[in-house]
Amino acid sequence: MAYQPKLMRTRFAPSPTGPLHLGHAFSALTAAHFAQSLGGEFLLRIEDIDQTRARPEWEAQIYDDLTWLGLTWPTPVMRQSDRMPAYRAALQTLWDMDLLYPCTCKRRDIEAAMSAPQEGAPTHGPDGLIYPGTCRTKPKPDQMPDGETLRLDMAKAFAIIGTETLTFTEIGPVHTGTHIVDLSKAHQTLGDIVLARRDMGTSYHLSVVIDDSDQGITHVTRGSDLFEATQIHVILQALLNKPVPTYHHHDLIRDDQGKRLAKRDDARAIALYRAEGKTPKDVADLIGTPLLSPL
Ligand code: GLU
Ligand code: ZN
Repeated sequence: MAYQPKLMRTRFAPSPTGPLHLGHAFSALTAAHFAQSLGGEFLLRIEDIDQTRARPEWEAQIYDDLTWLGLTWPTPVMRQSDRMPAYRAALQTLWDMDLLYPCTCKRRDIEAAMSAPQEGAPTHGPDGLIYPGTCRTKPKPDQMPDGETLRLDMAKAFAIIGTETLTFTEIGPVHTGTHIVDLSKAHQTLGDIVLARRDMGTSYHLSVVIDDSDQGITHVTRGSDLFEATQIHVILQALLNKPVPTYHHHDLIRDDQGKRLAKRDDARAIALYRAEGKTPKDVADLIGTPLLSPL
């Protein structure tokens, strides 16, 4: 049989918690161009695990704005709020490997436990405060609990990964090259990250790894603000036996003063430019990216 190359597939994965702005337009167009240039596929995924902030109106606006920009994607669109059983199954796998433990700490408990940090040790990692491990040694229930925060025991995770070298390939302009996840440092720089939040039953890191794998994503396109988080994803891929995609972290769009556009900069909402009568080409010019050429 003829050799069948694996289909290149990338994605744009916005959270429907507000309007898409110029930074999102840049990210979506970058991913779609990338797919087009390699004869691959561009997917859209709705990252709505935070049900306190996600709104159907914002989801509808995402479809509308992206269509206006000339993008198309296969349907049905994957929506993370429909995927809880898949996340739960992955958590159960990790629980059965004895890699998770419940954590009852509040933010202020963590801050208090960190008030005398080791000199030179970082206090923040890509996932926020580095957890001091307060709940790690508490007795664990027999069954994986529901509705509780679950943390990954990094030391045990590293023991399982052993001497295997974890790497990922980055093809974005800023960090181009092969990156080794330094497990000896990761313990200090990441800590025991949260994989299931009490209020969500999952976390960004877990969901993104499971979904990218289940959707057959070969190339992850996203903003460079998530570059540091990639090591967490590569660790989870190793533990859960998932393939490591190629990563493309693009630069973030800056305003006229060179300041990065905040994720929540509603003044740059695509919908506002549309309401002002701007064309898709005007928006593409503002972010310095051409529109997609018709197929
Ligand atoms: N949902 C994330 C965001 O809107 C993107 C996640 C990703 O691309 O990995 O920032
Ligand atoms: Zn705790």
